[in-house]
Amino acid sequence: MVLKLYNTLTKRKEEFKPLEGNVVKIYTCGPTVYDYAHIGNFRAYIFADILRRYLKYFKGYKVIHVMNITDIDDKIIKAVNEQNVDLEEYVSKYIKIFFEDIKTLNLETFEYYPRVTKHIKDIVEAIKKLLEKGYAYKSKDGSIYYDISKFKDYGKLSGIRNVKKKSRISHDSYSKEEIGDFALWKAYKPEDGKVYFETEFGRGRPGWHIECSVLAMKYLGETIDIHTGGVDLIFPHHENEIAQSEAITGKQFVRFWLHNEHLIVEGRKMSKSLGNIITLRDLLNKGYSWRAIRFLLLSTHYRRQLNFTYDALKSAENTVRNLANFVIKLKFLNVNGKYDEELKKKLEEARRKFEEYMDDDLNISEALASLFEFISFVNKKINKGEVSRKNLDEVLEFILKVDKVLGLKLDEFLNVDENVIKLIKEREEARKRKDYKRADEIRNYIREKYGLILEDTKYGTIWRVEKI
Ligand code: AMP
Ligand code: ZN
Repeated sequence: MVLKLYNTLTKRKEEFKPLEGNVVKIYTCGPTVYDYAHIGNFRAYIFADILRRYLKYFKGYKVIHVMNITDIDDKIIKAVNEQNVDLEEYVSKYIKIFFEDIKTLNLETFEYYPRVTKHIKDIVEAIKKLLEKGYAYKSKDGSIYYDISKFKDYGKLSGIRNVKKKSRISHDSYSKEEIGDFALWKAYKPEDGKVYFETEFGRGRPGWHIECSVLAMKYLGETIDIHTGGVDLIFPHHENEIAQSEAITGKQFVRFWLHNEHLIVEGRKMSKSLGNIITLRDLLNKGYSWRAIRFLLLSTHYRRQLNFTYDALKSAENTVRNLANFVIKLKFLNVNGKYDEELKKKLEEARRKFEEYMDDDLNISEALASLFEFISFVNKKINKGEVSRKNLDEVLEFILKVDKVLGLKLDEFLNVDENVIKLIKEREEARKRKDYKRADEIRNYIREKYGLILEDTKYGTIWRVEKI
């Protein structure tokens, strides 16, 4: 089965194969570490994580994945000077928080997380090449700008036609209305305070866009397979990355550009500047589980906007709880029917459908819908008593494979304390003796001590989790 991905560059779904053998090289624009990341940011990173996991666990590729850490920019410099702290002290706090957060959300560890301030030399070298090749020029104050009129393909990603540059732009983020030559190197200004680098260009610091060209090519080579980021990065950031990288190498920089849509709240993009952000920690402090948050962020197709509401989060929590209780049943229920061929067929169909939907530009919403339909079919079969242990083992294996992509750590629900199993046996004995007092005592104890709720079925006793 072939994977198709929607490429922002060509505006269509294209068959994906890596350039070199079995290895997929991915670059994901990472966080600016001047504050806590918000759950909109995590939507972008979880999307990259799902892509990576699907390529690895379903498509059999090896992945080399880079995410940069922007540890210098206008906002960081402002904060450092306002609070009169050291740059390193300031950013290391937020870097630590970022890594804690992505661990909490169970993102896989990517292969490289390069920090911009540790690569100033590489950045200077790249800018020198752009100067030598005539794509860049120095301004009077010593800053260096990229001359977009020199790059004939400028606008090919964002679809901007007839580029008429209006001005020279020194700030990092700007809109299509402002379009112009952008800063590669910013000469020192008094308001930069203590934050600068001494280089052969004099005192100063890099602009924002150059870092991603440099770090992507340093760790992945001149042409990379997939570049991801939110739709807000298409222009100017990614347009500028292409202009820089392709001017330097004369080769195609990125084969597939993938952009996730925004997480929105009450109709507006979640963003710090709109003052509507919610952090991971806000939600954890309110008692929501990381699994529910992760599931909510991954379950809408990445090219659709995701409207954040607390109702949706609660519903995500219920879904994950149902999944957890389903795998518990698959593993521990003492079923005794004979091997069911119909279930086997449905399982094969479920496997095929999951992959078919995911192959269609990672259509996870449809993939999940078909998965839940299958789960409800299995539950009906179980209730009718028509399945064997082998049936359930096979289904469990499939669900756990799907979970390699979802990343909900469902297997953790299968590690049950031996004492629980012992107590359940003891309770069954007590019930046989009609010692209902003891039976109830055990039920209550298991609920209090382990948070598990016992349920008596025709296959004996099974438990459910409440907290996920
Ligand atoms: P930033 O730190 O603003 O550069 O954002 C880091 C990543 O998060 C980028 O890929 C952004 O496109 C993405 N992003 C920012 N806000 C949102 C949002 N509300 N929804 C989804 N992605 C976002
Ligand atoms: Zn970037």
